[in-house]
Amino acid sequence: GTAITAASIDSLLQHFPACMLHLHTTLRRNKHLKHFGRLQYTLFLKGIGLSVEEALIFWRSSFSATPEDKFNKEYRYNIRHAYGLEGNRRDYKPHSCQQILLEHAPGNGEAHGCPYRHFGPDNLRAFLQTQMGVTDSSVLQGVKNDNEARKYHLGCNRVFEWKHREELKREKESGKGTVKETIIHPNEYFLRSWELAH
Ligand code: SF4
Repeated sequence: GTAITAASIDSLLQHFPACMLHLHTTLRRNKHLKHFGRLQYTLFLKGIGLSVEEALIFWRSSFSATPEDKFNKEYRYNIRHAYGLEGNRRDYKPHSCQQILLEHAPGNGEAHGCPYRHFGPDNLRAFLQTQMGVTDSSVLQGVKNDNEARKYHLGCNRVFEWKHREELKREKESGKGTVKETIIHPNEYFLRSWELAH
């Protein structure tokens, strides 16, 4: 397993799917995320192995414009709650693509959701080019077609396959590659990307 700490998250962004990269960059830019964004991102980070202690360090330092007492009053509880340490003590699972695609469409100023579904075509294209490093116009066109067919997660898989094309080729040539199913969970995206690199 991996020991993921608050301090190591910024070094793992190349393994993040678009939804989580968008949450992370928005958090860095605004030093804040709204409720559903915090929830989606907290549960994803929990799923990749961030402990509750490290999660509290991460969120406290990321909300650097928020005074200590406000942070403790408004945010600490929710983070601990997501880890099943408060209230009903439910062990919440990281959200799947289906949940993210179908529940709580983001409103103005909110960064949660799935960029493939919730961004307009121009924003999505710019995001893929500048944030995800997609330089191949046939990939961008493929994502556009997937979106028009409302197959949002296929666009995400298309980008994954393009970004990892060298590793996937090597894996296949080595005979280790098994046929993998389509990614339908952000944590699965992370894990597969991480495994391909290690
Ligand atoms: Fe995230 Fe799933 Fe959308 Fe990919 S398809 S960006 S993993 S919600």
